[in-house]
Amino acid sequence: MDDQRAVRLVLLGAPGSGKGTQGETLSSRLGVPRFSTGDILREEVRLDSELGRKAQALMGQGRLVPDDLILAMVAERMEGSEAALGFILDGFPRTQAQAEGLERMLAERNWGLDGVLEIRVPEEAVVRRLAGRWVCPDCDGVYHEDSRPSRRAGVCDRCGGRLVQRGDDRPEVVRNRLRVYQEETAPLREYYRVRGLLRPVDGQGSPEEVLERLMAFLDSR
Ligand code: AMP
Repeated sequence: MDDQRAVRLVLLGAPGSGKGTQGETLSSRLGVPRFSTGDILREEVRLDSELGRKAQALMGQGRLVPDDLILAMVAERMEGSEAALGFILDGFPRTQAQAEGLERMLAERNWGLDGVLEIRVPEEAVVRRLAGRWVCPDCDGVYHEDSRPSRRAGVCDRCGGRLVQRGDDRPEVVRNRLRVYQEETAPLREYYRVRGLLRPVDGQGSPEEVLERLMAFLDSR
């Protein structure tokens, strides 16, 4: 396996920090899969699976889905052949228990993380970003009124689906998601800092500018 390709990254950042967009671009640039626990859960909700039914109400309130369910979901991805290429984890881990679970899964395979890229954006900017976000429920495409408008208003560029606002992008749910991020996920900065993996990246500016900063870190490895 070519070491350059088997890059293993975690993307850390508040809801609305641009993680998903950057994760998608990095995934195609680096040729490694992106595993987004949020996307996987939304798909389970769409399929009305047992997991989807358990997750739906919690997601609608901006609360976290229990760690054991999330860890089982990620373990399944790690066992797939795709993961051997490397991966970008987006929206996972979100709690210390998840970070520890990930560490165990990686150790079993003699894999290590190359870095934890933390995309930093001030809270007011995050709220503005989420309020203007439109998503495609058919293919999970993400758009923004200001920074990434679709070519035709309300229509997905990729699959022609009708764009909607995510239920959890409503202001009262956004506030809850930000609080959960501060309380549960922000402590992971320290977890990864002491392991020498944390790389804070300024998430302000255009998606292209942020991507350049992320790539600068990857090129300097
Ligand atoms: P996201 O698209 O990453 O913002 O995730 C949307 C929602 O899915 C979150 O608000 C949580 O309810 C749930 N979720 C996604 N990833 C996780 C995770 N790693 N742990 C717990 N809940 C998660």
